[in-house]
Order: sequence, then C-alpha cells, then structure tokens
Amino acid sequence: MTEVAKMISVDEALEYILKHFKPLEPEEVEILEALDRVLAEDVCSDMDIPPFANSAMDGYAVRAADTTGASREHPVTLRVVADVAAGHTTEARVEPGTTIRIMTGAPLPEGADTVIRVEDTSDWARPRRERGREPSTKVEVYHAAEPGENVRPAGEDIRRGELVLPRGTLIRAQEIGVLASLGKSTVYVIRRPRVAILATGDELLAIDEPVTPGKIRNSNEYSNAALVQRYGGIPVRLGIARDSVEDLTAKINEGLAQKVDLFLTSAGVSVGDYDVVKDVLNAEGEMRFWQVRMKPGKPLAFGLIRGVPLIGLPGNPVSSMVSFEQFVRPAMLVMEGKTRLAKPAVEAILEEDMTSSGRRHFVRVIVEKRDGQYYARTTGEQGSGVLTSMVKANGLAVIPEGVELVKAGERVTVQMLDWPESVE
Ligand code: AMP
Ligand code: MG
Repeated sequence: MTEVAKMISVDEALEYILKHFKPLEPEEVEILEALDRVLAEDVCSDMDIPPFANSAMDGYAVRAADTTGASREHPVTLRVVADVAAGHTTEARVEPGTTIRIMTGAPLPEGADTVIRVEDTSDWARPRRERGREPSTKVEVYHAAEPGENVRPAGEDIRRGELVLPRGTLIRAQEIGVLASLGKSTVYVIRRPRVAILATGDELLAIDEPVTPGKIRNSNEYSNAALVQRYGGIPVRLGIARDSVEDLTAKINEGLAQKVDLFLTSAGVSVGDYDVVKDVLNAEGEMRFWQVRMKPGKPLAFGLIRGVPLIGLPGNPVSSMVSFEQFVRPAMLVMEGKTRLAKPAVEAILEEDMTSSGRRHFVRVIVEKRDGQYYARTTGEQGSGVLTSMVKANGLAVIPEGVELVKAGERVTVQMLDWPESVE
C-alpha cells in the first residue's frame, strides 16, 4: 500500500476497512461468559425437553373420558388415589373413576391424559392450608375436559436430536437458559478481539497528573477503551506515546507483542500537518491516510502493521468517538462473528434547522419520543473538542453528503448511541 492522502466517502472508507476483517477463532467458555457473543458450534439436544409429560397446572390428573358431561350443575365425582408434587413420581395409576392430585411440573401419572385445574373442582372451595393438611379423598369435577388439556407433552419445547441453536446465533439470556436446560455448562463462541489503544501527543497527561501549562489530560484512551469494552472487545491500554520516533516505535512494538487483533492510535493523523505519528506508521506498516468526507472526524488512517489492522483515529475527542462508531465498531463486530453491522437508527423529525458543509455530518442530538414519533434537537455547541456534547447526546443525526440544509420539521436518520433505554 502506498500513502494516498485523498478525500473519500464514509462508505468507501468503511468498505475498504472491512475487507481486512473476518471472524476470529472460537474458544470454549462458561455459558455466562457467552452473553452477547456468537455461537461457534451447532448445539443439538440429546434429550426431549421437557423430558416427561407434566402438568401445566395445580389440579387433578384424570382420564378425559371420565369427565364427559361434567359441569358445575352435574359434577363427576372421582376417588383420589394419590398425590404427586413437582420433582416426585408416583407408582399409582389413574384407573377409570379415580384421579391423582397433581402440582405444576409434576409428571403426568400412568393412565391419565388430562389435568383438571383445581379451580374446576370442589377442592377450590376448601382453604388452601386445609387442602394441604388433609387431602381430599373424593373430588367433584366441574369441567368436561378434552384429552391433553393442561398437559405439557414430553418434547414440547425441544425434541431429542433437534438442532436447537445453530452456529452463528447471537447469545442472549434466553439462549443461555436453553444451554443450561440442555446441561451444557460450557460452549464454543467466537473469542473477543483484543484491541490495542495508544494515545499520542506531547500535550497529553496521564489521568492522575496535575495539569500544567499547555497540557491536557488523555481522555481518548479512556473513551476508546470504554467503547472497546462496550462492543465486546478486550482493551489493551498502552498509555501515551510522545511525538518522537523512538517512543512511538517502542509503544507500537509493545502493543504488537501483546497479540492484538486491532491496533487503535489516537491523534497525529491529520493530513497536511507535519506529524511524526504518520512517519512512524509509514515506517512500521503499510498505511493509507485519508480525509473522510465527514464531520466531525475528517482525518483517518488505516493500514496493516505487521499484519495487524491499524485504525488511526483523529485526536479531537468527539471526532474520535464518532469515527470509532463509524469504523471501529463495525470492524470489531465482524471479528466477533456478528452480521448486523449497522448502528441502530430511527427516523426523527428535526425540531430546528441544521446546516452542513456538504460532508456527511454527524450532529449530536437528543432524541425524544412523543405521541409515537421521534423528535431530535441538537445538544448545542458542536465543536469537535466539546466532549460534553456527547454526554448530553443520545443520538447522532446523519445529514447526508451534499445536503447543506435540513429544515425544522423534516426527517433525518438518527444513529442511536444508546438504544433503546435512553429514548422516552
Ligand atoms: P491532533 O490530531 O494530534 O492534531 O489532535 C487534535 C486535537 O485532539 C488536539 O487538540 C489534541 O490536543 C487533542 N487530543 C489528542 N489526543 C488526545 C487525547 N488522547 N485525549 C484528549 N484530547 C486529545
Ligand atoms: Mg498531535
């Protein structure tokens, strides 16, 4: 690759970057570690779930045929021969004219095909305590049941041999529940990407250093690390590299030695300025430096550095976060085996005019839902160093390329930064 310092579109940059990423290898993890990750094996069931037919209600296990014509006015009386609770079994059978008291989840006894809810029997009139202490020996049934009523058949949920969760499934709480019911305590998922984070700049101070003239604290390292974590990666924080060839080279090597899947640098990639960061990246890797037709976040670098993809994010804190969302997030999702790369978005009605330079603008906005409709207004000052504008925002309104004015009342697409919890 040679250096091409040209202006390209967001879509072109993203397409080029994503060509260099593919899903990472699987690893075996405990199931709770699999949350929000992608399954890397087909999970089949070696059993029926539920494993046995059981009652969906507290009541009486009967033969449906015994209840023919039963009603409140003309009850059918059955003899109670046993009692079966969840977690227990009974040797007793339901013979014609008899019944077995049964609790939710208890196995349906031999001979029975139906459960009558306790509400549809004479037991319902007895206080619950008393029923428990002194079970009825006879019970009147008030309901003519169809066979199978209130019975959960074996295999109702999952059949033995069934492919329950195919590889590629995104694991949520319900998938973890299914894995647990199958007795799988561990599972193969795509491993998390390790992402190196290197801040660059002579002006930067570590978080606990006192502020001295001309210096600012290194916030990008932390916002980047937080985004890496949020999108399922493992941040490998390398601290600050000074704007010197030696320090930058040393920190890059330190990061590469930690077996990272993606390398993020912050700052020093604006086209035009002389920046030692660009020289070092060019010397160590095969790099492209771009200006992307977007605002904020015009400068962006991409390349391979000893085989590891490197994204050089702009230094301005807001530009850095917006560029992360547009380029780093999708690259991470691809490595994680995820296929839905687009940021969740809504169509919102603008509450004020928005102007643009004709580049794709990402305007920090507050989205609210009123009467079933989303509305967006800006967070105010949109300078790319004003990080509190990101604090106020729950979305990025996207003003497409070539559009210079969007008027109040018109619709825009808004990428939701938090979804959907922040929209009221
Ligand atoms: P640069 O891309 O190096 O020209 O930096 C652009 C702006 O971002 C400058 O105002 C820098 O001081 C600021 N900046 C660079 N790195 C960081 C960082 N790690 N944390 C906060 N601000 C930064
Ligand atoms: Mg700099």
